[in-house]
Amino acid sequence: MTKDMTFTLSDEQRALKAAVADLCKQYAPEYWRDLDARREYPERFIDELTKAGYLAALIPQEYGGPGLGIMEGALILEAINHSGGNAGACHAQMYIMGTVLRHGSEAQKKAYLPRIATGELRLQAFGVTEPNAGSDTTKLQTTAVKKGDRYVVNGQKMFISRVLQSDLMLLLARTTPVDQVKKKTDGLSVFLIDIRPLKGKGLEVRPLRMMMNHSTNALFFDNMEIPADSLIGQEGKGFSYILDGMNAERILVASDSLGDARWFIDKAVAYASQRVIFGKPIGANQGVQFPIAKAHMAIEAADLMRTKAAKMFDAGIPCGPEANMAKYLASEAAIQAGDACVDCHGGYGFAEEYDVERKFREARLYRTAPINNNLVAAYVGEHVLGMPRSY
Ligand SMILES: Cc1cc2nc3c(=O)[nH]c(=O)nc-3n(C[C@H](O)[C@H](O)[C@H](O)COP(=O)(O)OP(=O)(O)OC[C@H]3O[C@@H](n4cnc5c(N)ncnc54)[C@H](O)[C@@H]3O)c2cc1C
Repeated sequence: MTKDMTFTLSDEQRALKAAVADLCKQYAPEYWRDLDARREYPERFIDELTKAGYLAALIPQEYGGPGLGIMEGALILEAINHSGGNAGACHAQMYIMGTVLRHGSEAQKKAYLPRIATGELRLQAFGVTEPNAGSDTTKLQTTAVKKGDRYVVNGQKMFISRVLQSDLMLLLARTTPVDQVKKKTDGLSVFLIDIRPLKGKGLEVRPLRMMMNHSTNALFFDNMEIPADSLIGQEGKGFSYILDGMNAERILVASDSLGDARWFIDKAVAYASQRVIFGKPIGANQGVQFPIAKAHMAIEAADLMRTKAAKMFDAGIPCGPEANMAKYLASEAAIQAGDACVDCHGGYGFAEEYDVERKFREARLYRTAPINNNLVAAYVGEHVLGMPRSY
């Protein structure tokens, strides 16, 4: 990987963004609106994106992917959301894969990655959050107990997305009770499991209707048996494996937000320029124009931070502060742009057929998930600025 630390995109990166945007043009706003109303998964879109190879972007060439960097993954997701679509339906595959790549055995990589690259298998589900642990992952209560050549899993997960649309799930569970480990981050393990044979056999999936179309579920494990060789890396080291993937997740989610934000600005500029009230376009009024211009500036700043984080990541330079700040700045910029977009549309901002309210609901998620912005601020306060720990 070259150490490209400029803030401009290469010709190849611009071409990639344009190609994804072209594919997305075939999926009109009505497509996303209709799925949103029915809370259904964008199967046709995801199949086409997979066939075109975009969801395999980060898979190395030796395992059948193009071996692109996180910057390219970020541009793909940004282009989807900028087009009016919702990359939340597929973004997890890109960031979950890193755990398998970095910590999986050669046999696991050979068994799964080439089939994920062709689209034969989907790795879209990531099972971490629990009702009694929330943001404090060390308090997970789901257990995986080894019995011969199997682990037996018991417990519950909350808000686990795409379990019904995915073949594989990365699961975090406790393999050693918390009172038997030195550090509370020890004793958690990661498993890559095939969920297809488990549904109804120890795994109950209860879909949750959310504010936006996100295919999210509550999961219940009742003596769910999984093969012992589904363990990734060493038993008990799962927390650090998940942490390793966090920077990629932050950069990719920041890119979802940047795409949303840019969609809001395009939409707001177009509407404010053509809607005539009191004899002139509403965009001529500074009360309408300035919130849009200010949101645009916030987006450009967040884009710089996202690009810095992505280029550092691809160059192998530690980028925790940059990745976290990018996620924070981009998600806040998207909400700022969304608010300006709703405002300038007046009543139409709330009408389903304008898509503004749908995108607003979708963009709002990223202030809260996959990690809430309070915890990002706590990370910056404590780890970047050296202030006392709050939790
Ligand atoms: C649509 C959707 C999809 C999701 N998909 C997945 C998924 O696929 N897999 C998965 O594992 N999880 C998923 N999640 C879960 C998500 O990551 C969690 O909601 C999130 O981590 C927060 O956990 P919690 O909801 O229990 O909130 P809590 O941990 O209960 O926190 C509630 C609020 O309290 C505040 N807070 C908590 N602690 C502190 C603190 N120390 N300092 C300051 N403020 C604090 C924060 O503002 C936070 O938003 C999803 C969530 C949603 C909404």
